[in-house]
Amino acid sequence: MSAILLDGKKLSDKIKSEIRNETEILRSKNKKLPALSTILVGNNPASETYVNMKIRACESVGIKSKLLRLSEKTGTGELIDEIGKLNEDDDIHGILLQHPCPPQIDERKAFDFIDWRKDVDGVTTVSFGKLSMGEKTFIPCTPAGIMLLLREYGINVSGKHAVVVGRSAILGKPVGMLLLNENATVTICHSKTEKLDTIIREADIVVGAVGKPEFIRAEWIKKGAVLLDAGYNKGNIGDIEISQAAAKSSFYTPVPGGVGPMTIAVLLRQTLDSLKENFTPDGL
Ligand code: NAP
Repeated sequence: MSAILLDGKKLSDKIKSEIRNETEILRSKNKKLPALSTILVGNNPASETYVNMKIRACESVGIKSKLLRLSEKTGTGELIDEIGKLNEDDDIHGILLQHPCPPQIDERKAFDFIDWRKDVDGVTTVSFGKLSMGEKTFIPCTPAGIMLLLREYGINVSGKHAVVVGRSAILGKPVGMLLLNENATVTICHSKTEKLDTIIREADIVVGAVGKPEFIRAEWIKKGAVLLDAGYNKGNIGDIEISQAAAKSSFYTPVPGGVGPMTIAVLLRQTLDSLKENFTPDGL
């Protein structure tokens, strides 16, 4: 049987269309609309691009967006004061601190000042703790997007061996926890892992979360494995050597158009959910 492409573009369009319908109903009833506040510290050009993309995405589905620009010289104290004001603001439902901040900022301290009930990007320690304990909370957007794709295509991970390559706080660790919560047997690999190829050869599910082009070789992939590639490298290349690996898999995400588009869709979904005090996208 030929491999099935996990179409993240199609699913993200469906999610965005559902959000648009919901905000139109709120608007027609003169109810409060969801609002996302994005904080941008400094002038990093890549961050500017990401923030603009998120603002346009909000507008496209009827979510209000508010951009708070802070100077390159902002200190942790000043940033935390601003986050505190947004925590208290009843008209703001989601807070997103664009990463990376300038080096003088204690980014972990700043993230952890965000009220977890407005942490629609899933970056706080509280959110991670709740996620790990299987409690309702907001989830880092890319891992949540991966789980929604699995669900959409009816892929049951229970009892399967999932190998996650990468252990970052926003991607590798949380996706590992989410797979574990769904009863997968999870191995999380990192730069010190020995015999990575041997581990991947045993995997029923492989998650690429490394940030190195085609790092996971097709020859390591077991026949029928599910391939989920979160990596996004220059030239639209993922972390898995998908041109060769797709044919061996049962399901695979393309790059682009797989995991990538799900990230913003989840951010928008969680912002609307925050207004409704409904944590976790679609009850994940
Ligand atoms: P990151 O913070 O740089 O983490 C990379 C991880 O890869 C680290 O845990 C690192 O291990 C591990 N690693 C590095 N070299 C390795 C090796 N030789 N063998 C095994 N593991 C190795 O990156 P990230 O933020 O998680 O992002 C990873 C990728 O996902 C990037 O391509 C990024 O662009 C993409 N991404 C996409 C989205 C999206 O919206 N689609 C969102 C987030 C990230 P150590 O911990 O030991 O250093």
